[in-house]
Amino acid sequence: MAMREDDRLKGPFSHLKLSSWDPLRSATREVCPKCKSSRKVYCYDCFQFLPNIDPTSIPRISLPVPVDIIKHSQEVQGKSTATHAVMLAPDNVSIHTYPSLPPFSDPNKCLLVFPREGALSVSEWVRQNGTETAGGGMDWRQVERVVFIDSTWIQTRKILKAFSYLLSSFPTSNKAYWE
Ligand SMILES: [Zn+2]
Repeated sequence: MAMREDDRLKGPFSHLKLSSWDPLRSATREVCPKCKSSRKVYCYDCFQFLPNIDPTSIPRISLPVPVDIIKHSQEVQGKSTATHAVMLAPDNVSIHTYPSLPPFSDPNKCLLVFPREGALSVSEWVRQNGTETAGGGMDWRQVERVVFIDSTWIQTRKILKAFSYLLSSFPTSNKAYWE
C-alpha cells in the first residue's frame, strides 16, 4: 500500500508512543559480565543488558504471538537490529542461526514475513484470514508463530531455500507470505 504523503513527511514512527532515550544517551562501554566482551547498553551475544543500565528504564514489551528471527551465521551479530526485539520482548522473541530453524508444529499457523512475488500485504492477509477481537484488534490466536529473516540478501536467499522445502508442504490455500 502506498504511503500517504503526510505520513511520509512525518516519518514512519510518528504514530508510535516512544519511551525516553535518556538511559541510552548516558550509557558507556563496559565489560559484559557473562562473556567479558566490551559492549554498550546490551550484549548482542548474551542478550542481556549491561550492569550500568537500569532495567526499569527499558520498556519490556509483551507481543501477542511468538516471533522467530532467523539470521545467517556469517552475518555480523553486532549489526543486527533483530537483537533489539529480543531485548525488548524477551519472552516472545527468539533468534535462530541458520541452519537451525524454529519448530513448526502446525505450518498452517506459521507466517513467514518476507517480500516476494505473490506475497500478501499484512492488511490483505488480515482481511483474508484474520478475525477481529471485540476491541477491533487482530485476533492472534489463529497464528502459532511469525517468522522473519534478518540477513543480507545473499544470505537470505540461502535461508529461503531451506524454507522452500518446508513451505512446499503448506496447503496452497493457507500459504501466506507477508511483505
Ligand atoms: Zn556477553
